[in-house]
Amino acid sequence: MAQSTTGKCRFCQAPLEQTFVDLGMSPLCQDHIKPEELNRMEPFYPLHAYVCENCFLVQLEEFVAPSAIFNDYAYFSSYSDSWLQHVKRYTEQMIGKFPINSKSLVAEMASNDGYLLQYFAEKGIPVLGIEPAANVAEHAISKRGIRTETKFFGLNTAKEMTSKYGKADLLIGNNVLAHVPDINDFVSGMKAFLAPQGLITMEFPHLLRLVERNQFDTIYHEHFSYLSFTTVEKIFQYHGLALFDVEELPTHGGSIRIYGKHIEDSSKEVSFRVTELLKREHVAGMSSISFYKDFEERVRTTKRKILEFLISAKADGKKIAGYGAPGKGNTLLNYCGIRTDFIDYTVDRNPHKQGNFLPGTLIPIYEPAMIRETKPDYVFILPWNLKEEIMETMSFIQEWGGKFVIPIPELKIYDPLWLIHRFKKAS
Ligand SMILES: [Zn+2]
Repeated sequence: MAQSTTGKCRFCQAPLEQTFVDLGMSPLCQDHIKPEELNRMEPFYPLHAYVCENCFLVQLEEFVAPSAIFNDYAYFSSYSDSWLQHVKRYTEQMIGKFPINSKSLVAEMASNDGYLLQYFAEKGIPVLGIEPAANVAEHAISKRGIRTETKFFGLNTAKEMTSKYGKADLLIGNNVLAHVPDINDFVSGMKAFLAPQGLITMEFPHLLRLVERNQFDTIYHEHFSYLSFTTVEKIFQYHGLALFDVEELPTHGGSIRIYGKHIEDSSKEVSFRVTELLKREHVAGMSSISFYKDFEERVRTTKRKILEFLISAKADGKKIAGYGAPGKGNTLLNYCGIRTDFIDYTVDRNPHKQGNFLPGTLIPIYEPAMIRETKPDYVFILPWNLKEEIMETMSFIQEWGGKFVIPIPELKIYDPLWLIHRFKKAS
């Protein structure tokens, strides 16, 4: 039993002594290596997730300050079509369900390049983005005309924003709660920034799904906390906020969208979905330590299966290319020890990533056209959460008998011919 070096739960301060999964040493997943940096030393940090025995928050220790991680972030949200469709639907749903209009303030924490706020702005609703990565915030302002403050969100920023813009009627945080090292400062900031009858929505990957679907590769340094609905409810409650609804979403392999309000606000009814999900998490075993302790052995089994496939494919002389350069890919490749000995290269639609190399494994990143040029036998899909979209666009690999490999939850090979047949039937 290895105790963490800081030793304390980031939420409740209880001693942190139980391992959830130890994925060894890994570089920061967004630190893509430029060609001129190839011979430099790379920093590796422990990727060891612990679970708090008191509040069951699964967490990594903070080794690198978020300012070092997020100041020049290569991830632009807008590059995935399905994600844009998802947030557009969200915008319509919120405007339909809640009194959000030209007199409201819609604020988003970690607003990225304005990918979401653009849909509120085009309906004439005042928006405010709060985004720590300067290059991304600049893009939101100059390319989309989205009012954006370059800042990390927390209690201080909340006070500053309130005095500058007033309180937020809708406060949005998608895939950010897990990324904040000081979760108490962040949630108390939301309490301070929220209008008396305002609402908060947040989306984050659901820990129940991570465990059920073996998504160990979604663990990386930028992602400090892994959240169940039960634990998030405790954290909100502690800061004077209540959860009044929850939805389960297919995004990022299984996320939840929570709806929060002030505890004092009695204008919103509490949905049956809140008690239902709390109960389901309890029944799944999330209130007992064994649920968390059994995970590591499953992860090791998955690693062995992925390596068995790669070794036998290479022994048969097959060519394997990757698809995508997401954070999760770097965890998987570094943990399994997969380099150019197995995967020749990967491709990514994001031009900011092309021409660089994946951290740690130094697998080169090219533009997607490379797949057609080199005709690999297998395309190994790293962002498995987007597998349908990717397999559909890349289905042309069947012209030379190419197949797709999806590593998670269990390694599976897909034949595009079979997929084309299925798409035809569906349409
Ligand atoms: Zn705790």
